[in-house]
Amino acid sequence: MSFQFPKPESITLPIQGSDNGFPVNHVYCVGRNYKAHIREMGADVKEPPLFFSKPNWAVVRPGTDIDYPADTENLNHEVELVIAVGENMSIFGFGVGVDLTRRDIQAKAKEEGKPWFLAKCFPGSAPVSEIIPMGDLTDFSDLKLTLSVNGKIKQSGTCKNMIWNPNEIMCELAGEVPLQPGDLIFTGTPEGVGKLEKGDAIIAAVTGVVELSFIIS
Ligand code: MN
Repeated sequence: MSFQFPKPESITLPIQGSDNGFPVNHVYCVGRNYKAHIREMGADVKEPPLFFSKPNWAVVRPGTDIDYPADTENLNHEVELVIAVGENMSIFGFGVGVDLTRRDIQAKAKEEGKPWFLAKCFPGSAPVSEIIPMGDLTDFSDLKLTLSVNGKIKQSGTCKNMIWNPNEIMCELAGEVPLQPGDLIFTGTPEGVGKLEKGDAIIAAVTGVVELSFIIS
């Protein structure tokens, strides 16, 4: 079949050690997956984590600077382990990403009982590193996440503090949506989220495994 107009090209992420690209399909996110972060947001730690999503055009390839978004005076960083879904509901690999959030818009949405959409979805809101294939890794709990702004560590967490671990997230999500190869899942942020300004240099990392750096321009 021919198309009425050219099919939009899917964004692809580099895969470590491979010439293949990882074609990004849907982007799902887990909110409130670390108790210390739930507490810093003033939410109830007894409530289970929640899901939301970002459009795939929000994904930014490594090595790309990000424009400070419109309509906010409180852009926040949230460093997260990102799961890359493979075929047959497997976990193909993982990376580090930053769930950039317009916190002022989110606070207003929460207050008014409205969706988080505009708080979480804007151009540049989902920078992600290259994807690291799983290889021999079967357990994420020893992975450490850090985020620094202008050389100062702002977030430092460990995946073992997740309320839902990656396998549990996959099960929960697969019960609700048709998980497909190419999907990315942001798995939630540890504590220490904070404000970013124009000119800030951010380095997010899974310690010793993969790094993502970008500038807010
Ligand atoms: Mn998040």
